[in-house]
Amino acid sequence: MTAQDKAIQPAEIQAGHTPLAFEGSNGPLSPGIAIVGAGFSGTLLALHLLQRVPLQTRVVLIERNAQFGRGPAYSTGNSSHVLNVPAGKMSAFHSRPLDFLQWLQALPADELSGIDPTATTFVPRRMFGRYIRHLLNQEVKARNHGDQFELIRGDVVDIVPNGGGLSLTLDRNRTVEVDRAVLAIGNFPPAPPPVADMSFYDGPSYRPDPWAADTLDALDPDLPVLLIGTGLTTIDTVISLLDRGHRGPITALSRRGLLPHRHGSSPPPPDMPESDSFPTRVNDLARVLREGSRRCRELGGDWHTVIDELRPITTELWQAMCVKDRARFLRHMRPWWDVHRHRVAGPVADRIDAARGSGQLQIRAGRIREYRSRPDGLTDIVYRPRFGAGLENGGLDCVTAGRVVNCAGPDADYSRIRDPLVRSLLGNGLVRPDPLCLGLDVTANCATLGRDGSISRRLFAVGPVTKGTFWEMTAVPDIRQQAEFLAGQLASLTKPVRVAAASGGQAS
Ligand SMILES: Cc1cc2nc3c(=O)[nH]c(=O)nc-3n(C[C@H](O)[C@H](O)[C@H](O)COP(=O)(O)OP(=O)(O)OC[C@H]3O[C@@H](n4cnc5c(N)ncnc54)[C@H](O)[C@@H]3O)c2cc1C
Repeated sequence: MTAQDKAIQPAEIQAGHTPLAFEGSNGPLSPGIAIVGAGFSGTLLALHLLQRVPLQTRVVLIERNAQFGRGPAYSTGNSSHVLNVPAGKMSAFHSRPLDFLQWLQALPADELSGIDPTATTFVPRRMFGRYIRHLLNQEVKARNHGDQFELIRGDVVDIVPNGGGLSLTLDRNRTVEVDRAVLAIGNFPPAPPPVADMSFYDGPSYRPDPWAADTLDALDPDLPVLLIGTGLTTIDTVISLLDRGHRGPITALSRRGLLPHRHGSSPPPPDMPESDSFPTRVNDLARVLREGSRRCRELGGDWHTVIDELRPITTELWQAMCVKDRARFLRHMRPWWDVHRHRVAGPVADRIDAARGSGQLQIRAGRIREYRSRPDGLTDIVYRPRFGAGLENGGLDCVTAGRVVNCAGPDADYSRIRDPLVRSLLGNGLVRPDPLCLGLDVTANCATLGRDGSISRRLFAVGPVTKGTFWEMTAVPDIRQQAEFLAGQLASLTKPVRVAAASGGQAS
């Protein structure tokens, strides 16, 4: 860790209430804005807020984990876990698209581990986490934010209205009082596939969190492994297994058995016509995409161009669709959308292809039905293959594993997420899941909707939590625009500082 990464240290707050008025080096501070979660979304939002709100408005960033700015995506210590977007497209700022690349290029050679960063390089994800930390550190150091900014290490377990503001309860009975709060709580570990007897999920062979540091700990290198899911997290886990010298068979199983495609290198054909419009009915959209990629291939290009052309208007398309069509899209098109839209770097795809070629990695399509423990300590995972109508044994097949890792992708169905904050927010009606269970229901301005449909003026959300309203709110290029937009919104709601009764002061 460099000196610049060390600059901001979490503040230690004690149990009991934080007073409503604060004395900062720039005068009295307003209760301000709290951001819950300091992954990419929360950290970037804090940065933009500090650039927009008056110096008297407190900005409090609260993170339960040791490091801010990383989240599960950018905390991996494995340098083979590279970004799935090239460095030239990973800037934290929409208006300065090369900022990340320029930051990389300014690093001393010994910190780049042999990487020569160009716009098309896929760099280790932990480098991106370091960049985000650097941006906030730099902002806090360069401008005189004084006591305005607080980074708190803590787990927010409840948020309740407190008459003109919000009261956040943290672990160890600590409380933070603010005017407004933003949920930047990101991705939750995947849900286990439903089976009649769920007891396997409590046993030692099952790993529920693919991003946990100990997921592959104490794993015999010859043991067969089953990965549930065939998306980007599965790719990460296969790469981790290969890096550890795993020799045993690896099976990845998902309903359709689709793996993410690799990034293409061919530019769009010069005479590829631009689409006049995009339909917002799912069947028509699917037809237009199919025809577009056929036309592109005829002109010597590939389908990447057609998918990439949709990128700037994906949210508009989503919002223009009726809920029925959104549901139809999720049911029928999502698996294909995901593997074409969220692609992997070429060198990563090469390693996956080699593992498949050698027979070590097998991809299967089907639905898990049952776990049967065996006398040798392994488990038979019984599944119904997608194309298994002709199979004996009632159309069922089986794979044997000594460890099962759930890589099925983040769980976004808030009605079943067990996280205490989520449970209490749903319980007190401050939030509700969106109709398609992709996250929380929010307005186009990122304000949360309560159980009764009311629009909150105090509680907001940013990042993947808002996928129900925005759909593509997963990758950095989308979240960076949302974070900047929300910071502007919150700044416009910020009133001049009021000095609260707790210190006997007066509103000003
Ligand atoms: C493995 C992985 C790889 C990815 N790779 C890329 C990529 O290469 N390129 C790209 O563009 N996108 C990538 N993404 C997508 C995207 O960048 C991430 O989803 C994004 O980082 C989301 O950031 P976030 O801050 O919203 O959520 P998260 O990163 O999940 O962060 C949320 C934070 O909130 C904290 N938190 C949650 N609840 C509480 C609470 N109650 N109290 C206190 N703290 C709390 C968590 O500890 C966490 O640090 C990747 C995503 C994943 C999961």
